[in-house]
Amino acid sequence: MTKRDYYEVLGVPRSADNTQIKKSYRGLARKYHPDVNPDDPKAEDKFKEATEAYEVLSNSEKRNRYDMFGHKVFGDSYRPDYSSVSSIFREFGFGDFFLKNIFDFFGEPSFGTRVRTRPETWSIMGDNILKGIKISFKKAAFGVKKDLEYERYEACKKCGGSGSEDGELKNCPTCNGAGEIRTTRQSFFGTVISSRTCSNCRGRGKVIAKPCSQCNGEGRVYKKTKFAMNIPAGVSTGTRLKISGKGNAGIRGGAYGDLYVQIEVRPHKQFVRDGYNIFSKKKITFYEAALGSKVMVETLDGKDEIEIVPGIQSGERIKLKNKGIQHLGRNMRGNHIIEIVVETPKKMTKKEIKLIQEIAKAKGLKVGNGTTNFITKLKKAFK
Ligand SMILES: [Zn+2]
Ligand SMILES: [Zn+2]
Repeated sequence: MTKRDYYEVLGVPRSADNTQIKKSYRGLARKYHPDVNPDDPKAEDKFKEATEAYEVLSNSEKRNRYDMFGHKVFGDSYRPDYSSVSSIFREFGFGDFFLKNIFDFFGEPSFGTRVRTRPETWSIMGDNILKGIKISFKKAAFGVKKDLEYERYEACKKCGGSGSEDGELKNCPTCNGAGEIRTTRQSFFGTVISSRTCSNCRGRGKVIAKPCSQCNGEGRVYKKTKFAMNIPAGVSTGTRLKISGKGNAGIRGGAYGDLYVQIEVRPHKQFVRDGYNIFSKKKITFYEAALGSKVMVETLDGKDEIEIVPGIQSGERIKLKNKGIQHLGRNMRGNHIIEIVVETPKKMTKKEIKLIQEIAKAKGLKVGNGTTNFITKLKKAFK
């Protein structure tokens, strides 16, 4: 059977522009589509013929070659390929049914590469692991090297992660080696064929003939692992450190996931942290507050002497610059802020009482004798 001229098929002159060609094809496709003419095999032939003609004439490069040499330029057995046809069907809004028996339309061999629903790979990457650790306040401030012990999947040593005992493969029993599973369903337009990647072999068509006896074919084993990690200075509760490649091994040779270490910092007896600053309180006597002094305070770096100016009030703050916590990843420190708490003496000697009373009297103040009377003591005891 000799092929009809493409222009004749579409019923357009050789000078027709793209709009004319498109319009003509749309009309013919609607008229002859097999779904509209289910009992007319001739309509199907006409539909195929029109689609093939449109596929060539709508492509300027193919049309040029056809204009010069005619059918012989593509050969008599020319058939448009799968991807051209499906894009044409999509362009004309045939939507879902471009898959309709498409294998029968143009003959299977002409389809070239079949489109898969989703390319899948044989190996699967390993998961990330999240691990929490608690460290002391000071270790968070200065950083620490810590031995981490946890369980994870590691590549199987026996099979090198391949999952195979001897390296041999066999055809996948689920898809019989095709790598995909085809399903057909009936729709308004006819038989719809769709294919999906075989989940058993993940599209390879082959599976391991004899699974590794160590890992049962998974290519990885669950085991305890240990390594020394550096926790940098400046971490705080909630900080997550990422250690690449220290997560789970993948399946059948898949890459390792990452390890995330989430920090929890234990509270300190004296220091309270706010960002990179720390706060603490220092109790001083009212004599020191009144007369001024030098007192010792606890800092992150050990004991330090601070100066109390005469007349300091309870609640006043003294700032120790660069005595706070090191900024994470930067060479600078926050401040240490000390709040002064002035303590009134609870117990005094008779001599002390006498001296203070003298000062108070000189100031004209009405003061007590420095002792709690019996009734007040009793009330306190029963409170
Ligand atoms: Zn193995
Ligand atoms: Zn399979």
